[in-house]
Amino acid sequence: MFDGFVDEVNITVEAGDGGDGAVSFHREKYVAAGGPDGGDGGKGGDIVFLVDDNLNTLVDFRYQRKFKAERGENGSGNRRFGRSAPDLIVRVPRGTVVSERESGRIVADMSGSEPVIIARGGRGGRGNAHFATPTRQIPRFAKPGFKGQKLDLHLELKLLADVGLVGFPNVGKSTLISVVSAAKPKIANYHFTTLIPNLGVVKIAEGSSFVMADIPGLIEGASEGVGLGHEFLRHVERCRLILHIVDVSGSEGRDPISDFEIINRELRNFSEELAGAPQIVAANKCDMADEEQIGEFRKYIEEKGLPFFAISAATTQGTAELVSFAYKKLKDLPPLKVFEAEPEPLWQEADSAKDGFKITVEDGVYFVEADWLEGVLRMADMDDYESLQHFQLVLRSSGIIDELERLGISEGDTVSVCGFEFDYVR
Ligand code: GDP
Ligand code: MG
Repeated sequence: MFDGFVDEVNITVEAGDGGDGAVSFHREKYVAAGGPDGGDGGKGGDIVFLVDDNLNTLVDFRYQRKFKAERGENGSGNRRFGRSAPDLIVRVPRGTVVSERESGRIVADMSGSEPVIIARGGRGGRGNAHFATPTRQIPRFAKPGFKGQKLDLHLELKLLADVGLVGFPNVGKSTLISVVSAAKPKIANYHFTTLIPNLGVVKIAEGSSFVMADIPGLIEGASEGVGLGHEFLRHVERCRLILHIVDVSGSEGRDPISDFEIINRELRNFSEELAGAPQIVAANKCDMADEEQIGEFRKYIEEKGLPFFAISAATTQGTAELVSFAYKKLKDLPPLKVFEAEPEPLWQEADSAKDGFKITVEDGVYFVEADWLEGVLRMADMDDYESLQHFQLVLRSSGIIDELERLGISEGDTVSVCGFEFDYVR
């Protein structure tokens, strides 16, 4: 819709599958029938997201919407493990919030600089070298690799700025950010020049600075059917402080008080939380306004208990005082809002009946297979007691234990669940 600025996209990521385990038997000249020596498959590549500060939109994802990591290599004879596949690194702009499309679950908020694993590659399958037992010396089977995790994702860019500039188009937001920071946004005397939110670092003194975002023109979008309105409001959502710029000169024939109220109504419509954020009001274009205009507006704002500054971005009159006040104010405010990643939901009991499972017996080993179980296993940490308890509960409540019993399993027999093996204990 708005060319050049894309801040919301849907993509699909698919981590690599694990390589298959090998079936192989040791062979050597002059040595009769050796034992099984099939190695394990390698792990599939993870999908890893990383912040890249050279990016400021999600536009690249318009052209590439699918990301697939490589598969792990298969195992081979001589107990050779397959090579694990490299991770696939996906670069995103800082502030990208990653969620699962269907459930809305937040997978990650890419606000920090640490790489984040978004989808996990499958483990490699085990080679037949693992399956030899005193009673089964010639295991003619190995296990396939685990599937890599596949996710349908929604990416949304929510900029990280301490201070968000809001106001009607043409009130002087871009001009202000250009005079108080090193950002050089487009400035022009027509509406909607700013299509890409601009971030500027405002330096108060050595070592004291904050980030200001110039949010493109808010306007009474719904009623006028124009403007960028709510599209851009999500960028102010995490700002700690709102700097509301109003053209006090009325140079475009509008009234400062009604401008102020209209913008605040837009903020409220978007979110109560945003409307409740601390706000500073700057009456801009004072160089073109008369004292009376300024005085009337000042009175109105101060009666509301809001801090008021009369400035001229064009001549920089009052701008230093404004930003140093904002800086002091920020010190008392909570830090930037970062969205908490939500854990993957644990397996739901009701799912099992729907999806079922399959048990086969090969050489005295009970192989349990079910797609949904792979998911449970991927999340389970088998060295962790609680995780193990949960896993056992799943086996019991899904009817797998009953079925194993029916098939005549006895104490000490091997159960293999999607490649994970354990001894059966009653
Ligand atoms: P934005 O749409 O809010 O980003 O507004 P701009 O910063 O692009 O400014 C719109 C127009 O107003 C430009 O022509 C600016 O030169 C002019 N302008 C901005 N600040 C002032 C000011 O303090 N005084 C005067 N006279 N003009 C200004
Ligand atoms: Mg602008």
